[in-house]
Amino acid sequence: MGNNKVLIFSAPSGSGKTTVVNHLLGLHPEFEFSISAASRKPRGTERDGVEYYFISAEEFRSLIAQDAFVEYQEVYEDHFYGTLKREVDRIWEAGHVILFDVDVKGAWNLKKYFGDKALSVLVAPPSMEELERRLRGRGTDSEDEIRMRLDKAAYEMDYAAGKADYKLVNDDLATAFSEIEKVVDEFLAR
Ligand code: ADP
Ligand code: 5GP
Repeated sequence: MGNNKVLIFSAPSGSGKTTVVNHLLGLHPEFEFSISAASRKPRGTERDGVEYYFISAEEFRSLIAQDAFVEYQEVYEDHFYGTLKREVDRIWEAGHVILFDVDVKGAWNLKKYFGDKALSVLVAPPSMEELERRLRGRGTDSEDEIRMRLDKAAYEMDYAAGKADYKLVNDDLATAFSEIEKVVDEFLAR
């Protein structure tokens, strides 16, 4: 079964991380996303225990003092986000493999924590020009957001270089799918 394993996916926005992760979820019913704790209020249709475990900043601080987190970050003042150790236990006890979809810094922190139990994958675009095409093609971001994401992407690629266990260059999608299936299967069999 799960064998206490962890898959960590990170990528510059627009690389195709969501596409790749959804493909793997379709193939592996034993994969389960880790739900983070957050100290902000739910937005729109967000529900406690679905998008996040919503708790107060006070409760978050108390959990930090109890060493209850695998990792956490104060993203904005009083807006804490983090992975609870009990969430990790919950997923492993169900015999599932934990899936993380995080930024490059979060990925590195998780990899340091889980070590050999984790496979960290950086999903990379074949080029910056193609990344720009995909961000435009997705049609979800304004021109300012696209600029911001492209600026950030160069930094993220530099940061993650040499830190990820595997770099998946997402050029032709069918090729990327079969490549990641093989890497994941080898990791699960280990
Ligand atoms: P991310 O989660 O990394 O932000 P998405 O999975 O949303 O990226 O992909 C960004 C856009 O690029 C989407 O419109 C998606 O359909 C498209 N895309 C993903 N992979 C490929 C690929 N290999 N070739 C062409 N387009 C792709
Ligand atoms: P949002 O409020 O838009 O849902 O998320 C804000 C930011 O918090 C995002 O950049 C997201 O990646 C980050 N975030 C969400 N969960 C976690 C977590 O468990 N740990 C860390 N370090 N960051 C997280």
